[in-house]
Amino acid sequence: MATTYNLKPWALAATLVAAATTQSALAEDAHSYAKLQEVATPHLELDLTVDFAAKQLRGTATYDLARHGDATEVHMDTRELTISKAEIWQDNAWQETQFTLAEPHETLGQELTISIGEESDKVRIHYHTAPTASGLQWLTPEQTKSGKFPFMFSQSQPIHARSWIPIQDTPALRLTYDATLRTPAGMLAVMSADNQLDTELDGDYSFSMPQPIPPYLIAIAAGELVVKEISDNVAVFAEPYIIDDAAWEWADTPAMITATEEMYGPYRWDRYDLLVLPPSFPFGGMENPRLSFITPTVVSGDRTLINLIAHELAHSWSGNLVTNASWRDLWLNEGFTSYVENRIMEALFGERRAQMELALGYQDLLENMERLAPKDTVLNIDLGTRHPDDVFSQVPYVKGQLFLVYLENKFGRETFDNFLRQYFDDFAFQSISTAEFKEYLARHLLAKNPGVVSMDKVNEWIHQPGLPADAPQPTSNAFAEVEKQMQRWLKGGQLKTEDWTTHEWLHFINNLPLDISSVNMRRLDEQFNLTQSKNAEIAHAWLKLSIVKDYEPARDRLRNYLLTIGRNKLVSPLYRELAKRPDNLKWAREIYQQAKPGYHPLTQTVNEALLYPQQ
Ligand SMILES: [Zn+2]
Repeated sequence: MATTYNLKPWALAATLVAAATTQSALAEDAHSYAKLQEVATPHLELDLTVDFAAKQLRGTATYDLARHGDATEVHMDTRELTISKAEIWQDNAWQETQFTLAEPHETLGQELTISIGEESDKVRIHYHTAPTASGLQWLTPEQTKSGKFPFMFSQSQPIHARSWIPIQDTPALRLTYDATLRTPAGMLAVMSADNQLDTELDGDYSFSMPQPIPPYLIAIAAGELVVKEISDNVAVFAEPYIIDDAAWEWADTPAMITATEEMYGPYRWDRYDLLVLPPSFPFGGMENPRLSFITPTVVSGDRTLINLIAHELAHSWSGNLVTNASWRDLWLNEGFTSYVENRIMEALFGERRAQMELALGYQDLLENMERLAPKDTVLNIDLGTRHPDDVFSQVPYVKGQLFLVYLENKFGRETFDNFLRQYFDDFAFQSISTAEFKEYLARHLLAKNPGVVSMDKVNEWIHQPGLPADAPQPTSNAFAEVEKQMQRWLKGGQLKTEDWTTHEWLHFINNLPLDISSVNMRRLDEQFNLTQSKNAEIAHAWLKLSIVKDYEPARDRLRNYLLTIGRNKLVSPLYRELAKRPDNLKWAREIYQQAKPGYHPLTQTVNEALLYPQQ
């Protein structure tokens, strides 16, 4: 698979699908009914009406068919879709054809099987989505800042694309797409495609994504959106209230692109734009190609949370360009991306800041691993048919990152950088499995530098639970300094926080002794106004501590925080903490019921499991 292509990669979609259609890679995706080795779908044409009143996408999905044998059926994934008709292109006309929808599987949804005859090379599906589609969120005008228009957006990763498009929903597939969308006039629709900066808001929009991507990267959003350019090839799309702040916050994005290109080769996606989602967006960011979706909770006014942009940008190399072939291989996406993110931060802001972020990630990982079953701390995780969302943790991110830090330390930065750059080139626009990565690593790094790292060690990292005994244990001098200050402060001294960024504050709050007195809590709050912090991460850390310490003055903010933010990473640890005591649990359930209509389906699922564990 180490072929270098000289043609434009997106001219090779069909070739690449064939390349990705090796039996080994495909047999391993337990989360899709697609049988790519029989028939694959290398190009999609979407034609959809965005109906806010019905909370529904309605229209057609038309696919090119790539046949690899004599199968007469194509298999796809759906969830809660209503299919009214299927057609095949035959004898120069669309002709109705038979289809079946299987009984729903709790995790996988319903298999769609369509008869395609022996000759046809196109299939068209007429369908509409359910208002409860797991991959879409529909917000009323009242749930947006200006209140003028409704808002909708998708989150397809990992297996939610099938809830809004009938599709072969496996990352082993790569496809290009074109789309036509209709919205009410005055609203702007955007996609993970070639968004125009000067579109007329007439409610009729068309898009093209010429590079082959996995289905989970197909994305859509529509709402009251305006645009502001940061540079020639970077712009921000957002609701008007936050457009200036977001463009200011992310001014370093063009420099990040340049720095990443210097390390890992060209950015191959044309433009890189950023879309600010409403506060209910369940993630920090989603690396939808050409248009990363970003939570407004990182617009902190101090540019200290820009590592999230570095992360989403890094996915333009690891994840979007070189993609995990199944969700068991997620660490190939997220571990590499966390590593590249940290290298971007180091290139732009220096080693001190990068080291702090690495150390914070390491602390999160250790905390995560304490509550995870050992088998779920394995990089090449055995998911079975469990939903990947249910086993989401820092393991693929930070343990994966530490593995690469380990390799960098062993082989030296120059050797390892050259290896990574070549890896991104060799697998550009392909989906690969952990087994394929290991084979590549053995051939291109281990064998060329014998005696440095054994395959046994690699297997320990990838297939064993926990961390190897000789794993890096990132620490930060800056944090050692924070800890010294903390000791002085606990004895009544003053804190010197003028130079502190979010990172020092997080380390300080997260490491305060749990027997800290209420007098000291109040003292800290009065001096630094932590309960009212405008920085969503600092507020989160403080509110979590306030639950543990039963610190009453933070209650109103906690309520407000849970009611206005839906980013799961920020709300679920708070619900988890509240659920530990019966009186807090009762209070949390009341808040949750009030907040629920504004939460994304994913945030609802995760937090209901915490608050109503028997159900
Ligand atoms: Zn990521």
